[in-house]
Amino acid sequence: MHGYIARICTSFIDYPDHTSIAIYLSGCSLRCPHCQNKELWEKENGTLMSLDQVLQKVKEHPLADSVVFLGGEPTDQMDFLIALCKEITAKTDKTIVLYTGREYEVLPHDLLKSLSLIVCGPYRQELHVDAWPASTNQRVFKKEAGQWKS
Ligand code: SF4
Repeated sequence: MHGYIARICTSFIDYPDHTSIAIYLSGCSLRCPHCQNKELWEKENGTLMSLDQVLQKVKEHPLADSVVFLGGEPTDQMDFLIALCKEITAKTDKTIVLYTGREYEVLPHDLLKSLSLIVCGPYRQELHVDAWPASTNQRVFKKEAGQWKS
């Protein structure tokens, strides 16, 4: 299985107080008016990578304790995202965080079971705050003892 990846890099800000591997999936069908990542709207602007190639990149960052998926809209490549999360869970000890413009309620169980934290809802310029998350409509869900809490 393959997915379109815009970039993979180390992040110190996307999962506060954690060192993460940030994986930007290219392509976004949501098209929010004030999006700051418009260069990621077209899926084909990314590089087509296999599950194994992405997993190898994750393993090359032993000091990171987590993987953060951003975009673009990661859930636009849902089958790839679910499969990659399963691989990361099975083959590493890293926790997984998802940023999505979609709402928590529409995310499938197969994805939720691999995640530890979700920032959901689209970025909206008029609701911007200098905080985390950056837009007050965005909700944060954390899994604690197997239960999701917001
Ligand atoms: S969901 Fe994110 S990447 Fe997609 S248009 Fe909205 S802000 Fe941009």
